[in-house]
Amino acid sequence: MQTQQLVPKALKQTLTYVLQNSSFYKKTLNGLIDNVEDISFSEWKKIPFTHKDDISENNLDFLAVPMSEIADMVTTSGTMGDPVTIYLSRSDLKRLAINERDSLSLAGVKEGDLVQLTTTMDRQFMAGIAYYLGIQELKAGIIRIGPGLPELQWSSILKYKPRVLIAVPSFILILIDYAKKNGIDLAANSVETIVCIGESIRDDEFNLNVLGQRITNDWEVNLYSTYACTEMATAFTECHAQQGCHLNENLLFLEVLDEDGIEVGDGEEGEIVITTIATTGTPLVRYKTGDIAKRFTQKCSCGSTSPRLGPIVGRKNQMIKFKGTTIFPQTIYDIFDVIEEVICFKVIVSKDELHNDLITILLQKELIDTSIHKTIIEKCQSRLKVIPSFKFEPLETIQAQVYKKNLRKPEKIVFI
Ligand SMILES: [Zn+2]
Repeated sequence: MQTQQLVPKALKQTLTYVLQNSSFYKKTLNGLIDNVEDISFSEWKKIPFTHKDDISENNLDFLAVPMSEIADMVTTSGTMGDPVTIYLSRSDLKRLAINERDSLSLAGVKEGDLVQLTTTMDRQFMAGIAYYLGIQELKAGIIRIGPGLPELQWSSILKYKPRVLIAVPSFILILIDYAKKNGIDLAANSVETIVCIGESIRDDEFNLNVLGQRITNDWEVNLYSTYACTEMATAFTECHAQQGCHLNENLLFLEVLDEDGIEVGDGEEGEIVITTIATTGTPLVRYKTGDIAKRFTQKCSCGSTSPRLGPIVGRKNQMIKFKGTTIFPQTIYDIFDVIEEVICFKVIVSKDELHNDLITILLQKELIDTSIHKTIIEKCQSRLKVIPSFKFEPLETIQAQVYKKNLRKPEKIVFI
């Protein structure tokens, strides 16, 4: 990016809009920009970042239309502290429909397809409503089963024959487990594609990670990664090349920055910082998501030149400092996801009296003192360089702690 180069027109429109309509940005950008029309990237880089705390502490200051024009209110998932509200106007809902139409199209979903939604549409969950609107925009059909309920998911798959599922990857393991135990033939059903949400299914080289492999070893489906957060109201999605999730450049401006706020090079890790384009309810400028990923800018083999993001390496506030090593939760997941006998697990990160992180893994009680337990210890030793503590509980107890009724995503880790 040339610093003297002027910023794209869409970004100028976002700036003009927030300077006129957002109390928060009127305050924070006051006096910083001489003339939006002439703003260069070097001036852009001086615009302060917006943090999640800014939104939670000044939530209504971000509202950029009168409350009477709000069509829907969504909240963040709360994986990074308290949930915050994002207000959507009617035009934001239209934008969300277009976003999801484009996203699902990249994953090969097309007019006439039938899609089964295994995530919630309620509880102010943006993704659920985005899928619904996007599928309508695409002229495809939707079966809204919602989260959990493997028996109902399968009876719907067998009855309505959807070609596509939208699912959290670890929930697909539960569907597979249910199918195996109930004589459902995984090789003979209608599902060809699963659009994945909320968890990484690929490794650094874009190959399926252990979770992705575990799914496809049992079930011959095409898995597509997506990445999104509520604040950006936009999804990054894999195309058929499956070499990272494409940015939708009409809806979002992306920066991937190092600790000093400098743009990282191609294929280097940095924090995802976004600016929304064409949102009117809660527009955001230079919002730091806290998510870390690699960005790839070379033209994709699908022909698109839009930047792609690799799998999310971790969240800045989910780095675990354990006995002198830094660990991202995904590294722990990779150990347990691969072991078939581990049906469900939960990671608990707590602090000792010296404020060091302690890791406890909840595992089903059948595994205690078995050869699997021994394998787990060896894998922790080699991958994490340290051995966490283990607590053995009945499977149902762990599942109840991971798939909580009041949460929209599985809670595989908790920081206490
Ligand atoms: Zn592509």
